[in-house]
Parts: sequence; C-alpha cells; structure tokens
Amino acid sequence: MEDLDFENRIVSPTEIMGDGDSDNPLRPRRLDDYIGQDKAKENLSVFIEAARQRGETLDHVLLYGPPGLGKTTLSGIIANELGVNLRITSGPAIEKPGDLAAILTNLNEGDVLFIDEIHRISRAVEEILYPAMEDFAIDIVTGKGQMAASYHLPLPHFTLVGATTRAGQLTAPLRDRFGVSLRLELYTPEELAKIVERSACILHIPVEHDGALEIASRSRGTPRIANRMLKRVRDFAQVMSDGVITLETARVALERLEIDELGLDSNDRRMLEAIVKFYKGGPVGLETLAAAIGEEAVTIEDVIEPYLMQIGFLSRTPRGRCITRAGCLHLGLDANAAEPAQLRLD
Ligand code: ADP
Repeated sequence: MEDLDFENRIVSPTEIMGDGDSDNPLRPRRLDDYIGQDKAKENLSVFIEAARQRGETLDHVLLYGPPGLGKTTLSGIIANELGVNLRITSGPAIEKPGDLAAILTNLNEGDVLFIDEIHRISRAVEEILYPAMEDFAIDIVTGKGQMAASYHLPLPHFTLVGATTRAGQLTAPLRDRFGVSLRLELYTPEELAKIVERSACILHIPVEHDGALEIASRSRGTPRIANRMLKRVRDFAQVMSDGVITLETARVALERLEIDELGLDSNDRRMLEAIVKFYKGGPVGLETLAAAIGEEAVTIEDVIEPYLMQIGFLSRTPRGRCITRAGCLHLGLDANAAEPAQLRLD
C-alpha cells in the first residue's frame, strides 16, 4: 500500500504551510472572543479575576487536548487578560537545562511562559522546572570537581502555561505542580460555525450562515481546520460565483477538495478501509496499522484517531483498533466485515 500524505492535508489539525498561525489575525485576544470551551473558560475567568484582585500571579495552568483546539490562543488570552507579556517556547526547543535557565531569568515579574508540547521536555530540563515552578528559583551548578560551585538564583514570579496533546505522558511530579488543569474538547458544529463567521468577518469574506455551518460540520471539531477550509472555500466561491459562500458553494468546494460530509478525506477512508481489508475490521495493533499505511503511530494516535473515535467510526481496545459498524456503513463497506471484531469486543 502506498504511503499516505497526512502532512499537508487540509483536514490536518496540526499547523501546515500557509496557515500563518504565528502572527494570526484570527486568534481571539480576549476571553469574551474565545468561542466555545465554556467550562474551561468559566473556570479560567474566575482564576484570572481572583489573581488580579489579589495582585498575585496566576497559578500554573496545564492545557490538554488534541491539536488545533486553541491552547496557544488561550495562553495569549491569559497574558492579555492579566496585562503581562507572553513568552512562547516548546518542549523540543528547550534542549539543555541552560536553555530553560536563560528563558526563565529573562522573564519579567508576572509574565506568562507558554511551553507547547511540554510532555517532550527532557528529564534534565524537567529537574530545573520543578524549583522554578514551586519556589521561583533555580540552582545552577558551574565548574566540575573541586571547582564546582552552586548558585541559588531567585526568579521573577511567573505563570507557566503548559500545553500537551497527551496529559498521560507527563510525569506525576510535573503534573502535580500545575494548580489549574483544563481539558479542551472538540467543538460542536454550531460553535465552529460561529468561529467561521467571526473569521470571515475579520477577513472580509461574505458568508451565509448555512455556508458557515457546512464548513463547520466538515471541520472535525477543530477551529484550525475550520479556518483553513474557510480560506480554501473562499477561492472556489470567488472563481465559481460572486464570492459569497453559500451552502451550495461550500458543498461544491468541499466535494472538489474531496472532503466528505463528516470531514473525512481520502486518507481517513483508506486507513479505515485498510482495517477492513487487511485485518477483517480489527482489532489491529497500532504499530501494525501504522506500518501498513506508512504513518507514524503517534500521528495516528494524536491526529487521526481522536476525531474518528468521537464520531464512533473507530474503537480502541486493549488488543488494538477496530472499525465500527457505523464506520463501515459510512464507507459503503460490507458491515459484516467488522462483525467479528464487534463480537470479540462484547
Ligand atoms: P493549539 O495550540 O491547540 O494547537 P491554536 O491556539 O494554535 O491551537 O489554534 C489554532 C487556530 O484556531 C488559531 O489560529 C485560532 O485562530 C483558532 N481558534 C482556536 N480556538 C479558537 C476559539 N475558541 N475561538 C476562535 N478561534 C479559535
């Protein structure tokens, strides 16, 4: 089976070329503009208000959930609402303890430090993070042997916002040092339609509500995908009609882009079909499946699976992945092919 291109597909929840996420006018700057995630938002607004009233820094915040749901955006909003600077880095970018020490000592009082993919920081870096988070201080050792000297360096009080797609991979001591832990959920089509309409307004793209809802319902619960689809559908609307995104233009455009009514693209369909054709509907181990479709296991786990499980097309069992009856029916495959897997499941 030929390798699938999960990298640059339009329904990828991770950033791809052309998204321009770093300096993005579509990112909400205030909590009030941040659509959906009501539970996380309500809690956060209380914590921010309380910290502001006491004149203290906000407790460290852990944000977890699939990519593209607004974790980076939320960290910017936290800094904005607190009226402080935001410093952004990521787990893999902090290679040595010295890199983290340099970042920490350059913070100003009250600043927000955002570490994306925090589950990927090394053990040595994590050791520095503990006292920094707890006591706002780090211990630096210079020299070796008899020349070794240790310095206790106080740091400005800061708020660490850590983001991860896999909270389970965080070590317990690190997880325990976050006072606030918020889980972001996939968005409903109605919430995504509001995001599409808000983005369309900022980008001066005329869109009818039905058109926005059509884009939303094919966006796999993910704002990053919704915004990307909006831009692609705009191209079709401009060339095919008068530029207005209606239900009809959205439908035609998304069909041309080979994204079906539920937001599945040819890669999803081929992965599900592989489970049916080669493994009788499953269960098939993650590594085996990854090898069969030429993709990394973590990409399947973090990027592709969450949505397929949310819509009930894929189930995860201790013995591997199974396609469900609903998944088979949607793909027009023989539902009996998945029957043995479902029986084994029960
Ligand atoms: P993550 O850090 O979780 O991967 P981002 O914060 O980079 O996700 O969000 C991806 C894009 O989706 C952003 O550019 C932003 O424009 C948009 N976005 C995310 N969440 C929301 C939201 N709640 N309301 C409006 N737009 C959002």
